[in-house]
Amino acid sequence: MHELGITRNIVAIVSEAAGGRPVRRVTLEVGKLSGVMAGAIAFCFDAVAKGTPLEGATLEICEIEGRGRCSACGTEFAMPAIYTPCPCGARGSVRLEGEELKVKTMELEIA
Ligand SMILES: [Zn+2]
Repeated sequence: MHELGITRNIVAIVSEAAGGRPVRRVTLEVGKLSGVMAGAIAFCFDAVAKGTPLEGATLEICEIEGRGRCSACGTEFAMPAIYTPCPCGARGSVRLEGEELKVKTMELEIA
């Protein structure tokens, strides 16, 4: 499963940033057009975090709605899927939001 590798990467990045201190909470931004299932990350997280500084941490996932700008008319519109056309009918568009996959914040345990 694709999301298992992603979750391992996230845990590795956050562990390193925490410098070995226990992490209490992690917030991720996951775009709805990123192709990553937020639910699958949440599902893997506890198992992947076990034995790392993230063990027992709360995972919060903010899902970012897709938005694009039409290359034909310049309108910005909601893109629930990657190939959603502009309301004007044109299919060429630039994606503005919705492809994010990043660690937004992390909270360390205060000893
Ligand atoms: Zn358009």
